[in-house]
Amino acid sequence: GQSRIGVTGLAVMGANLARNIARHGVPVAVHNRTTARTTEFIEAHGQEGTFTGAETLEDFVAVLEKPRRIIVMVKAGAPVDGVIGELVPLLDPGDIIIDAGNSHFADTKRRTEDCARHGLRFMGIGVSGGEEGALLGPSIMPGGHPAAYAEVEEVLASIAAQVDGTPCCTHVGPDGAGHYVKMVHNGIEYADIQLIAEAYDLLTHVAGLDAPAIGSIFSEWNTGDLESFLIEITGKVLVKTDERTGGPLVDVIVDQAEQKGTGRWTAIDALELGVPLTAITEAVFARTLSALRDERGAAAATLAGPAPGRGEHRPDLVDDIREALYASKVVAYAQGFAQMRAASIANGWNLDLGAMATIWRGGCIIRAQFLNRIRDAYAEHPDLDNLLMVPYFTEAVANAQDAWRRVVMMATEHGVAIPAFSSSLSYYDGYRRERGPANLIQGLRDYFGAHTYRRLDAEGSFHTRWAQDGVEVRTDG
Ligand code: NDP
Repeated sequence: GQSRIGVTGLAVMGANLARNIARHGVPVAVHNRTTARTTEFIEAHGQEGTFTGAETLEDFVAVLEKPRRIIVMVKAGAPVDGVIGELVPLLDPGDIIIDAGNSHFADTKRRTEDCARHGLRFMGIGVSGGEEGALLGPSIMPGGHPAAYAEVEEVLASIAAQVDGTPCCTHVGPDGAGHYVKMVHNGIEYADIQLIAEAYDLLTHVAGLDAPAIGSIFSEWNTGDLESFLIEITGKVLVKTDERTGGPLVDVIVDQAEQKGTGRWTAIDALELGVPLTAITEAVFARTLSALRDERGAAAATLAGPAPGRGEHRPDLVDDIREALYASKVVAYAQGFAQMRAASIANGWNLDLGAMATIWRGGCIIRAQFLNRIRDAYAEHPDLDNLLMVPYFTEAVANAQDAWRRVVMMATEHGVAIPAFSSSLSYYDGYRRERGPANLIQGLRDYFGAHTYRRLDAEGSFHTRWAQDGVEVRTDG
Protein backbone atom coordinates (compact mmCIF):
# COMPACT_ATOMS: atom_id res chain seq x y z
CA GLY A 1 0.00 0.00 0.00
CA GLN A 2 0.96 3.61 -0.40
CA SER A 3 1.70 5.92 2.49
CA ARG A 4 -0.14 9.22 2.78
CA ILE A 5 2.87 10.99 4.24
CA GLY A 6 6.50 10.28 5.01
CA VAL A 7 8.78 11.26 7.87
CA THR A 8 12.56 11.26 7.46
CA GLY A 9 14.64 11.77 10.60
CA LEU A 10 13.59 9.45 13.41
CA ALA A 11 15.27 11.00 16.44
CA VAL A 12 12.85 11.84 19.24
CA MET A 13 10.85 14.55 17.41
CA GLY A 14 10.49 12.76 14.07
CA ALA A 15 9.65 9.44 15.73
CA ASN A 16 6.99 11.01 17.92
CA LEU A 17 5.44 12.96 15.05
CA ALA A 18 5.29 9.79 12.93
CA ARG A 19 3.62 7.91 15.79
CA ASN A 20 1.15 10.75 16.31
CA ILE A 21 0.22 10.75 12.61
CA ALA A 22 -0.15 6.97 12.47
CA ARG A 23 -2.36 6.94 15.53
CA HIS A 24 -4.73 9.20 13.65
CA GLY A 25 -5.20 6.45 11.08
CA VAL A 26 -2.85 7.86 8.46
CA PRO A 27 -0.38 5.40 6.84
CA VAL A 28 3.14 6.74 7.34
CA ALA A 29 6.42 5.89 5.64
CA VAL A 30 9.46 6.32 7.87
CA HIS A 31 13.12 6.75 7.03
CA ASN A 32 16.31 7.67 8.83
CA ARG A 33 19.86 8.18 7.54
CA THR A 34 21.13 5.50 9.89
CA THR A 35 18.98 2.49 9.07
CA ALA A 36 19.32 0.92 12.51
CA ARG A 37 17.14 3.73 13.87
CA THR A 38 14.38 2.89 11.36
CA THR A 39 14.55 -0.78 12.28
CA GLU A 40 14.38 0.01 15.98
CA PHE A 41 11.47 2.35 15.38
CA ILE A 42 9.47 -0.31 13.53
CA GLU A 43 10.27 -2.88 16.22
CA ALA A 44 9.21 -0.59 19.04
CA HIS A 45 6.18 1.11 17.46
CA GLY A 46 5.24 -0.83 14.34
CA GLN A 47 2.03 -2.09 15.91
CA GLU A 48 0.76 1.44 16.76
CA GLY A 49 -0.38 2.11 13.19
CA THR A 50 0.35 1.53 9.52
CA PHE A 51 4.05 2.17 9.05
CA THR A 52 6.30 1.38 6.11
CA GLY A 53 9.97 1.44 7.03
CA ALA A 54 12.30 2.42 4.19
CA GLU A 55 16.03 1.72 4.17
CA THR A 56 16.90 4.18 1.43
CA LEU A 57 15.47 7.52 0.33
CA GLU A 58 14.66 5.90 -3.05
CA ASP A 59 12.50 3.25 -1.32
CA PHE A 60 10.98 5.94 0.90
CA VAL A 61 9.96 8.13 -2.01
CA ALA A 62 8.63 5.11 -3.94
CA VAL A 63 6.05 4.19 -1.29
CA LEU A 64 4.52 7.68 -1.02
CA GLU A 65 1.19 8.69 -2.50
CA LYS A 66 1.41 11.63 -4.98
CA PRO A 67 1.78 14.47 -4.59
CA ARG A 68 4.36 13.25 -2.11
CA ARG A 69 4.28 14.80 1.33
CA ILE A 70 7.61 14.47 3.11
CA ILE A 71 8.25 15.72 6.61
CA VAL A 72 11.94 16.33 7.22
CA MET A 73 12.74 16.20 10.95
CA VAL A 74 16.53 16.17 11.02
CA LYS A 75 19.04 18.31 12.87
CA ALA A 76 18.51 21.99 11.99
CA GLY A 77 21.04 23.70 9.72
CA ALA A 78 23.19 22.04 7.06
CA PRO A 79 21.57 18.59 7.50
CA VAL A 80 18.26 20.04 6.23
CA ASP A 81 19.98 21.29 3.06
CA GLY A 82 21.68 17.93 2.72
CA VAL A 83 18.40 16.01 2.89
CA ILE A 84 16.68 18.42 0.47
CA GLY A 85 19.59 18.00 -1.94
CA GLU A 86 19.19 14.22 -1.81
CA LEU A 87 15.41 14.40 -2.22
CA VAL A 88 15.25 16.83 -5.14
CA PRO A 89 16.37 14.39 -7.89
CA LEU A 90 13.98 11.72 -6.55
CA LEU A 91 10.82 13.84 -6.54
CA ASP A 92 8.27 14.97 -9.14
CA PRO A 93 6.86 18.46 -9.71
CA GLY A 94 4.18 19.32 -7.17
CA ASP A 95 5.65 17.15 -4.41
CA ILE A 96 5.86 18.80 -1.01
CA ILE A 97 8.88 18.91 1.29
CA ILE A 98 7.99 19.96 4.83
CA ASP A 99 10.75 21.06 7.18
CA ALA A 100 9.33 20.65 10.66
CA GLY A 101 12.56 21.37 12.56
CA ASN A 102 13.72 24.59 14.17
CA SER A 103 15.07 26.23 11.04
CA HIS A 104 15.88 29.91 10.72
CA PHE A 105 13.15 31.68 8.72
CA ALA A 106 15.67 33.13 6.27
CA ASP A 107 16.85 29.59 5.43
CA THR A 108 13.22 28.60 4.91
CA LYS A 109 12.72 31.50 2.52
CA ARG A 110 15.81 30.44 0.56
CA ARG A 111 14.82 26.76 0.52
CA THR A 112 11.32 27.68 -0.67
CA GLU A 113 12.83 29.50 -3.65
CA ASP A 114 15.34 26.73 -4.40
CA CYS A 115 12.65 24.05 -4.31
CA ALA A 116 10.34 26.14 -6.49
CA ARG A 117 13.05 26.15 -9.16
CA HIS A 118 12.67 22.37 -9.28
CA GLY A 119 8.88 22.58 -9.34
CA LEU A 120 8.73 21.41 -5.74
CA ARG A 121 6.65 22.94 -2.99
CA PHE A 122 8.44 23.66 0.28
CA MET A 123 6.87 24.31 3.64
CA GLY A 124 8.57 25.42 6.84
CA ILE A 125 6.49 24.49 9.83
CA GLY A 126 7.12 25.35 13.44
CA VAL A 127 6.35 22.55 15.87
CA SER A 128 6.27 23.38 19.57
CA GLY A 129 5.74 21.27 22.61
CA GLY A 130 8.92 19.24 22.80
CA GLU A 131 8.89 15.47 22.69
CA GLU A 132 5.61 15.07 24.48
CA GLY A 133 3.85 17.61 22.28
CA ALA A 134 5.08 15.89 19.12
CA LEU A 135 3.59 12.63 20.35
CA LEU A 136 0.37 13.78 21.99
CA GLY A 137 -0.46 17.00 20.16
CA PRO A 138 1.87 19.90 19.44
CA SER A 139 1.11 23.47 18.48
CA ILE A 140 1.83 23.63 14.75
CA MET A 141 2.76 26.82 12.86
CA PRO A 142 2.80 26.00 9.14
CA GLY A 143 4.32 28.38 6.62
CA GLY A 144 4.27 27.94 2.87
CA HIS A 145 2.05 28.28 -0.17
CA PRO A 146 -1.65 27.96 0.73
CA ALA A 147 -2.13 25.30 -1.97
CA ALA A 148 0.62 23.17 -0.41
CA TYR A 149 -0.92 23.69 3.02
CA ALA A 150 -4.27 22.49 1.69
CA GLU A 151 -2.61 19.15 0.87
CA VAL A 152 -1.43 18.61 4.45
CA GLU A 153 -3.95 20.56 6.47
CA GLU A 154 -6.08 17.58 7.38
CA VAL A 155 -3.17 15.57 8.75
CA LEU A 156 -1.57 18.51 10.59
CA ALA A 157 -4.82 19.72 12.13
CA SER A 158 -5.68 16.20 13.32
CA ILE A 159 -2.33 15.63 15.09
CA ALA A 160 -2.19 19.10 16.69
CA ALA A 161 -3.29 19.85 20.23
CA GLN A 162 -6.98 20.74 20.43
CA VAL A 163 -8.34 23.48 22.71
CA ASP A 164 -12.11 23.92 23.04
CA GLY A 165 -12.49 21.90 19.82
CA THR A 166 -10.11 24.17 17.88
CA PRO A 167 -6.89 22.65 16.55
CA CYS A 168 -3.68 24.46 17.56
CA CYS A 169 -2.70 24.65 13.90
CA THR A 170 -3.45 27.29 11.31
CA HIS A 171 -1.80 28.42 8.10
CA VAL A 172 0.52 31.19 9.29
CA GLY A 173 1.65 32.72 5.99
CA PRO A 174 4.00 32.15 3.05
CA ASP A 175 7.62 30.92 3.03
CA GLY A 176 9.39 31.70 6.33
CA ALA A 177 6.32 32.92 8.24
CA GLY A 178 5.74 29.66 10.14
CA HIS A 179 9.33 29.37 11.29
CA TYR A 180 9.36 33.07 12.17
CA VAL A 181 6.36 32.74 14.43
CA LYS A 182 7.86 29.61 16.00
CA MET A 183 11.06 31.58 16.62
CA VAL A 184 9.18 34.37 18.40
CA HIS A 185 7.23 31.75 20.36
CA ASN A 186 10.55 30.38 21.59
CA GLY A 187 11.77 33.90 22.36
CA ILE A 188 8.68 34.54 24.46
CA GLU A 189 9.34 31.22 26.17
CA TYR A 190 12.82 32.52 27.09
CA ALA A 191 11.26 35.66 28.60
CA ASP A 192 8.60 33.70 30.50
CA ILE A 193 11.25 31.39 31.95
CA GLN A 194 13.56 34.27 32.88
CA LEU A 195 10.72 36.09 34.67
CA ILE A 196 9.94 32.92 36.60
CA ALA A 197 13.63 32.55 37.52
CA GLU A 198 13.75 36.15 38.76
CA ALA A 199 10.63 35.62 40.88
CA TYR A 200 12.26 32.49 42.33
CA ASP A 201 15.46 34.44 43.04
CA LEU A 202 13.52 37.16 44.89
CA LEU A 203 11.48 34.65 46.85
CA THR A 204 14.72 32.91 47.82
CA HIS A 205 17.03 35.84 48.55
CA VAL A 206 14.65 38.59 49.62
CA ALA A 207 11.74 36.68 51.13
CA GLY A 208 14.08 34.00 52.52
CA LEU A 209 11.94 31.02 51.46
CA ASP A 210 13.17 27.54 50.58
CA ALA A 211 12.48 25.72 47.32
CA PRO A 212 9.49 23.62 48.48
CA ALA A 213 7.82 26.71 49.96
CA ILE A 214 8.34 28.59 46.70
CA GLY A 215 7.03 25.58 44.81
CA SER A 216 3.77 25.79 46.75
CA ILE A 217 3.53 29.50 45.95
CA PHE A 218 3.88 28.79 42.22
CA SER A 219 1.23 26.07 42.43
CA GLU A 220 -1.09 28.60 44.04
CA TRP A 221 -0.24 31.21 41.39
CA ASN A 222 -1.21 28.63 38.80
CA THR A 223 -4.84 29.02 39.83
CA GLY A 224 -5.01 32.73 38.92
CA ASP A 225 -4.09 35.08 36.05
CA LEU A 226 -0.70 33.41 35.72
CA GLU A 227 -2.19 29.96 35.02
CA SER A 228 0.08 28.34 32.46
CA PHE A 229 2.14 25.25 31.74
CA LEU A 230 5.40 26.94 32.77
CA ILE A 231 4.07 28.14 36.14
CA GLU A 232 2.62 24.68 36.74
CA ILE A 233 5.90 22.87 36.07
CA THR A 234 7.84 25.44 38.11
CA GLY A 235 5.78 24.30 41.10
CA LYS A 236 6.65 20.70 40.31
CA VAL A 237 10.37 21.28 39.76
CA LEU A 238 10.73 23.25 43.01
CA VAL A 239 9.09 20.64 45.26
CA LYS A 240 11.12 17.74 43.84
CA THR A 241 13.35 16.09 46.44
CA ASP A 242 16.80 14.91 45.41
CA GLU A 243 17.35 11.22 46.06
CA ARG A 244 21.05 11.63 46.81
CA THR A 245 21.00 14.54 49.23
CA GLY A 246 17.44 14.41 50.51
CA GLY A 247 17.20 18.17 49.87
CA PRO A 248 15.49 19.99 46.98
CA LEU A 249 16.80 18.84 43.60
CA VAL A 250 17.01 22.43 42.25
CA ASP A 251 19.52 23.23 44.98
CA VAL A 252 22.04 20.83 43.44
CA ILE A 253 21.48 21.74 39.79
CA VAL A 254 24.33 23.81 38.28
CA ASP A 255 23.21 27.41 37.66
CA GLN A 256 24.35 27.64 34.04
CA ALA A 257 21.60 27.92 31.44
CA GLU A 258 22.11 26.49 27.99
CA GLN A 259 20.39 27.52 24.79
CA LYS A 260 19.90 26.23 21.29
CA GLY A 261 19.65 29.62 19.58
CA THR A 262 16.04 30.53 18.85
CA GLY A 263 15.94 33.19 21.58
CA ARG A 264 19.11 34.73 20.18
CA TRP A 265 17.62 34.70 16.66
CA THR A 266 14.54 36.51 17.96
CA ALA A 267 16.64 39.19 19.62
CA ILE A 268 18.86 39.61 16.57
CA ASP A 269 15.86 40.03 14.31
CA ALA A 270 14.33 42.58 16.68
CA LEU A 271 17.53 44.60 16.34
CA GLU A 272 17.36 44.26 12.55
CA LEU A 273 13.73 45.34 12.49
CA GLY A 274 14.26 48.16 14.99
CA VAL A 275 11.67 46.81 17.42
CA PRO A 276 12.28 47.29 21.18
CA LEU A 277 12.39 43.74 22.53
CA THR A 278 13.84 44.11 25.98
CA ALA A 279 12.41 41.15 27.90
CA ILE A 280 13.41 38.43 25.45
CA THR A 281 16.80 40.00 24.80
CA GLU A 282 17.54 40.34 28.52
CA ALA A 283 16.50 36.71 28.94
CA VAL A 284 19.09 35.68 26.35
CA PHE A 285 21.75 37.83 28.03
CA ALA A 286 20.85 36.40 31.44
CA ARG A 287 21.54 32.91 30.09
CA THR A 288 24.86 34.03 28.67
CA LEU A 289 25.77 35.66 31.99
CA SER A 290 24.80 32.49 33.84
CA ALA A 291 27.23 30.59 31.64
CA LEU A 292 30.16 32.67 32.97
CA ARG A 293 30.26 30.55 36.10
CA ASP A 294 33.99 30.76 36.78
CA GLU A 295 34.03 34.52 36.31
CA ARG A 296 31.03 34.86 38.59
CA GLY A 297 32.79 32.79 41.21
CA ALA A 298 35.73 35.19 41.19
CA ALA A 299 33.49 38.28 41.06
CA ALA A 300 31.41 37.04 44.00
CA ALA A 301 34.55 37.18 46.13
CA THR A 302 35.63 40.57 44.78
CA LEU A 303 32.75 42.86 43.87
CA ALA A 304 30.82 44.61 46.62
CA GLY A 305 27.07 44.35 47.02
CA PRO A 306 24.73 46.31 49.28
CA ALA A 307 25.53 46.24 52.99
CA PRO A 308 23.84 43.31 54.74
CA GLY A 309 20.59 44.12 56.45
CA ARG A 310 19.79 46.92 54.04
CA GLY A 311 16.34 46.90 52.59
CA GLU A 312 13.28 45.87 54.50
CA HIS A 313 10.86 43.46 53.03
CA ARG A 314 7.15 43.93 53.30
CA PRO A 315 4.71 41.32 54.50
CA ASP A 316 2.89 41.41 51.16
CA LEU A 317 6.12 40.73 49.29
CA VAL A 318 4.89 37.47 47.77
CA ASP A 319 1.82 39.15 46.28
CA ASP A 320 3.97 42.02 45.03
CA ILE A 321 6.24 39.57 43.22
CA ARG A 322 3.24 37.86 41.62
CA GLU A 323 1.96 41.20 40.35
CA ALA A 324 5.39 42.22 39.09
CA LEU A 325 5.67 38.89 37.30
CA TYR A 326 2.30 39.35 35.64
CA ALA A 327 2.96 42.94 34.55
CA SER A 328 6.38 41.98 33.18
CA LYS A 329 4.81 39.06 31.33
CA VAL A 330 2.28 41.39 29.71
CA VAL A 331 5.17 43.57 28.52
CA ALA A 332 7.15 40.57 27.22
CA TYR A 333 4.17 39.41 25.15
CA ALA A 334 3.34 42.93 23.99
CA GLN A 335 6.91 43.21 22.70
CA GLY A 336 6.89 39.78 21.04
CA PHE A 337 3.60 40.48 19.29
CA ALA A 338 4.80 43.94 18.21
CA GLN A 339 7.83 42.23 16.69
CA MET A 340 5.65 39.76 14.76
CA ARG A 341 3.58 42.67 13.50
CA ALA A 342 6.69 44.51 12.31
CA ALA A 343 8.02 41.35 10.63
CA SER A 344 4.66 40.77 9.00
CA ILE A 345 4.72 44.23 7.48
CA ALA A 346 8.39 44.02 6.48
CA ASN A 347 7.94 40.62 4.78
CA GLY A 348 4.42 41.08 3.44
CA TRP A 349 3.20 38.05 5.44
CA ASN A 350 -0.16 39.42 6.53
CA LEU A 351 0.03 37.57 9.86
CA ASP A 352 -3.18 37.16 11.83
CA LEU A 353 -1.79 37.78 15.33
CA GLY A 354 -5.00 36.72 17.07
CA ALA A 355 -4.71 33.35 15.31
CA MET A 356 -1.16 33.00 16.64
CA ALA A 357 -2.40 33.51 20.20
CA THR A 358 -5.14 30.96 19.47
CA ILE A 359 -2.77 28.21 18.30
CA TRP A 360 -0.45 28.79 21.25
CA ARG A 361 -3.19 28.00 23.76
CA GLY A 362 -2.40 24.29 23.64
CA GLY A 363 0.43 21.91 22.83
CA CYS A 364 3.26 24.40 23.19
CA ILE A 365 5.52 25.42 26.05
CA ILE A 366 3.98 28.88 26.54
CA ARG A 367 0.40 27.58 26.63
CA ALA A 368 -1.60 29.71 29.05
CA GLN A 369 -5.01 31.09 29.87
CA PHE A 370 -3.56 34.52 29.22
CA LEU A 371 -3.45 33.83 25.46
CA ASN A 372 -7.25 33.97 25.31
CA ARG A 373 -6.94 37.63 26.34
CA ILE A 374 -4.51 38.27 23.48
CA ARG A 375 -6.75 36.47 21.00
CA ASP A 376 -9.69 38.63 22.16
CA ALA A 377 -7.62 41.82 21.88
CA TYR A 378 -6.77 41.16 18.22
CA ALA A 379 -10.32 40.03 17.46
CA GLU A 380 -11.45 43.53 18.43
CA HIS A 381 -8.46 45.46 17.10
CA PRO A 382 -6.73 43.55 14.26
CA ASP A 383 -4.30 46.44 13.60
CA LEU A 384 -3.32 46.98 17.20
CA ASP A 385 0.16 48.53 17.56
CA ASN A 386 0.74 47.34 21.09
CA LEU A 387 -1.17 44.99 23.38
CA LEU A 388 -0.66 47.37 26.30
CA MET A 389 -3.19 49.69 24.65
CA VAL A 390 -6.24 47.41 24.94
CA PRO A 391 -8.32 48.04 28.06
CA TYR A 392 -7.77 44.59 29.62
CA PHE A 393 -3.97 44.89 29.55
CA THR A 394 -3.93 48.63 30.25
CA GLU A 395 -5.85 47.97 33.45
CA ALA A 396 -3.93 44.84 34.40
CA VAL A 397 -0.66 46.77 34.31
CA ALA A 398 -2.16 49.84 35.96
CA ASN A 399 -3.32 47.67 38.85
CA ALA A 400 0.02 45.91 39.15
CA GLN A 401 2.35 48.85 38.71
CA ASP A 402 2.71 49.91 42.35
CA ALA A 403 3.72 46.39 43.33
CA TRP A 404 5.97 46.14 40.26
CA ARG A 405 7.82 49.34 41.23
CA ARG A 406 8.20 48.17 44.85
CA VAL A 407 9.67 44.85 43.68
CA VAL A 408 12.18 46.54 41.38
CA MET A 409 13.27 48.89 44.19
CA MET A 410 13.52 46.08 46.69
CA ALA A 411 15.53 43.88 44.34
CA THR A 412 17.89 46.76 43.69
CA GLU A 413 18.32 47.45 47.41
CA HIS A 414 19.04 43.78 48.06
CA GLY A 415 21.40 43.48 45.11
CA VAL A 416 19.33 40.83 43.34
CA ALA A 417 19.60 41.00 39.54
CA ILE A 418 16.21 41.23 37.82
CA PRO A 419 17.00 42.15 34.22
CA ALA A 420 13.65 41.07 32.80
CA PHE A 421 11.48 42.60 35.55
CA SER A 422 13.32 45.91 35.52
CA SER A 423 13.79 46.25 31.75
CA SER A 424 10.09 45.52 31.27
CA LEU A 425 9.23 48.28 33.69
CA SER A 426 11.64 50.65 31.93
CA TYR A 427 10.05 49.77 28.61
CA TYR A 428 6.63 50.48 30.08
CA ASP A 429 7.77 53.82 31.48
CA GLY A 430 9.50 54.69 28.22
CA TYR A 431 6.55 53.68 26.07
CA ARG A 432 4.04 55.74 28.04
CA ARG A 433 6.12 58.94 27.78
CA GLU A 434 4.89 61.38 25.20
CA ARG A 435 8.22 63.16 25.35
CA GLY A 436 11.38 61.25 26.26
CA PRO A 437 15.02 62.36 26.45
CA ALA A 438 15.95 61.57 22.83
CA ASN A 439 15.93 65.31 22.07
CA LEU A 440 19.28 65.43 23.87
CA ILE A 441 20.55 62.40 21.93
CA GLN A 442 19.76 64.25 18.70
CA GLY A 443 21.46 67.37 20.00
CA LEU A 444 24.62 65.43 20.79
CA ARG A 445 24.57 63.64 17.43
CA ASP A 446 24.23 66.98 15.72
CA TYR A 447 27.10 68.43 17.76
CA PHE A 448 29.67 65.72 17.05
CA GLY A 449 28.48 64.48 13.67
CA ALA A 450 26.26 67.17 12.10
CA HIS A 451 23.55 64.48 11.93
CA THR A 452 20.82 67.18 12.06
CA TYR A 453 17.63 67.31 14.11
CA ARG A 454 14.00 68.22 13.62
CA ARG A 455 12.20 70.90 15.65
CA LEU A 456 8.85 70.72 17.45
CA ASP A 457 7.88 74.17 16.19
CA ALA A 458 9.06 74.17 12.55
CA GLU A 459 9.18 71.87 9.51
CA GLY A 460 12.47 70.64 8.11
CA SER A 461 15.90 69.44 9.25
CA PHE A 462 18.30 71.66 11.13
CA HIS A 463 21.93 71.81 12.11
CA THR A 464 23.49 74.10 14.65
CA ARG A 465 27.14 75.07 14.22
CA TRP A 466 27.62 74.30 17.91
CA ALA A 467 31.38 74.75 18.15
CA GLN A 468 31.68 77.52 15.56
CA ASP A 469 29.35 80.52 15.52
CA GLY A 470 26.47 78.75 17.26
CA VAL A 471 24.07 79.62 14.46
CA GLU A 472 21.29 77.23 13.40
CA VAL A 473 20.88 76.48 9.70
CA ARG A 474 18.18 74.65 7.83
CA THR A 475 19.69 71.68 5.98
CA ASP A 476 16.86 70.47 3.75
CA GLY A 477 16.77 73.01 0.95
P1 NDP B 1 18.21 16.11 16.40
O1 NDP B 1 18.18 17.56 16.22
O2 NDP B 1 19.00 15.54 17.51
O3 NDP B 1 18.71 15.44 15.01
C1 NDP B 1 18.94 14.05 14.90
C2 NDP B 1 18.32 13.53 13.61
O4 NDP B 1 18.87 14.21 12.46
C3 NDP B 1 18.64 12.06 13.40
O5 NDP B 1 17.54 11.43 12.76
C4 NDP B 1 19.85 12.12 12.47
O6 NDP B 1 20.04 10.96 11.71
C5 NDP B 1 19.41 13.25 11.58
N1 NDP B 1 20.52 13.83 10.84
C6 NDP B 1 21.51 14.61 11.34
N2 NDP B 1 22.34 14.99 10.35
C7 NDP B 1 21.86 14.47 9.21
C8 NDP B 1 22.27 14.51 7.85
N3 NDP B 1 23.35 15.23 7.47
N4 NDP B 1 21.53 13.86 6.94
C9 NDP B 1 20.45 13.16 7.30
N5 NDP B 1 20.01 13.07 8.57
C10 NDP B 1 20.71 13.71 9.51
O7 NDP B 1 16.72 15.53 16.49
P2 NDP B 1 15.45 16.05 17.34
O8 NDP B 1 14.42 15.03 17.10
O9 NDP B 1 15.82 16.42 18.73
O10 NDP B 1 15.05 17.42 16.62
C11 NDP B 1 14.69 17.47 15.25
C12 NDP B 1 14.34 18.91 14.90
O11 NDP B 1 13.23 19.32 15.71
C13 NDP B 1 15.44 19.93 15.17
O12 NDP B 1 15.36 20.94 14.20
C14 NDP B 1 15.09 20.48 16.51
O13 NDP B 1 15.61 21.77 16.72
C15 NDP B 1 13.57 20.50 16.40
N6 NDP B 1 12.84 20.50 17.67
C16 NDP B 1 13.25 19.75 18.71
C17 NDP B 1 12.56 19.77 19.89
C18 NDP B 1 12.99 18.90 21.01
O14 NDP B 1 12.36 19.00 22.09
N7 NDP B 1 13.97 18.04 20.84
C19 NDP B 1 11.37 20.60 20.09
C20 NDP B 1 10.97 21.30 18.92
C21 NDP B 1 11.70 21.26 17.76
P3 NDP B 1 21.02 9.78 12.26
O15 NDP B 1 20.17 8.93 13.15
O16 NDP B 1 21.44 9.08 11.02
O17 NDP B 1 22.15 10.44 12.99
